Amino acid sequence: MSIQENILKIRQRVSSVCSKLNRNPAEIKIVAVSKGRPLAQIAEAAEAGIIDIGENKVQEALLKYNDMRHAISDKPIRWHMVGHLQTNKVRDAVKIFDLIHSVDSLHLAEEINKQAAKINKVQEVLIEIKTSSEATKFGFLPEEAVKTTEAISHFKNINIKGLMTIASVVGNPEQARPCFKLLRELRDNIDKLITRNSEPITLSMGMTDDFEIAIEEGANTLRIGRAIFEG
Ligand SMILES: *Cc1c(COP(=O)(O)O)cnc(C)c1O
Repeated sequence: MSIQENILKIRQRVSSVCSKLNRNPAEIKIVAVSKGRPLAQIAEAAEAGIIDIGENKVQEALLKYNDMRHAISDKPIRWHMVGHLQTNKVRDAVKIFDLIHSVDSLHLAEEINKQAAKINKVQEVLIEIKTSSEATKFGFLPEEAVKTTEAISHFKNINIKGLMTIASVVGNPEQARPCFKLLRELRDNIDKLITRNSEPITLSMGMTDDFEIAIEEGANTLRIGRAIFEG
């Protein structure tokens, strides 16, 4: 299967879940997570209509960002940081990323605010929430979501667009549902804390194995890797 065919198939699956829920598939953004994949494949995804590209390492993203000018595709890419961001990489990160999904500490938010100010940028971010108890996962605890969002909302060079979570990895995608449900409930709690010009709050959740469940629970941004690049 080609990347184009994979994307077509994913879009069909998104549409079919949406039609059951009376949701408009156009309101669901697909981010192609391309960590470890070559630039040619990113260009292929862009040609097939997915111009939101996710990476989880600043160094790799920076190389791709700089090389993209030489790629076959002339589509304007929007770069998303989906992995844990170390503070010493923030200076480069704010230069290239349109949206940082993984703000997981106040210290990191402070550094993003500082580095974005230096280049006169208002950096769009999502607050990462740890919705499962797996020890390896980054993110704020659900009970910290409101006070964290409140605190970060005062930073001048950060614009909070919403929330992100990585569901616990389990055999059955249905087991991810409580994580997604929790993120949706938290969205309603932060609603009044963020400025959003009538656009919906971003809920970044759902990956290859569980994106249909995520849509059912209110996701409007999916981060999909394998289903696009491996099929
Ligand atoms: C790799 C990755 C994805 C995509 O995962 P797939 O299972 O390949 O779809 C999504 N989000 C994050 C944070 C990732 O690191």
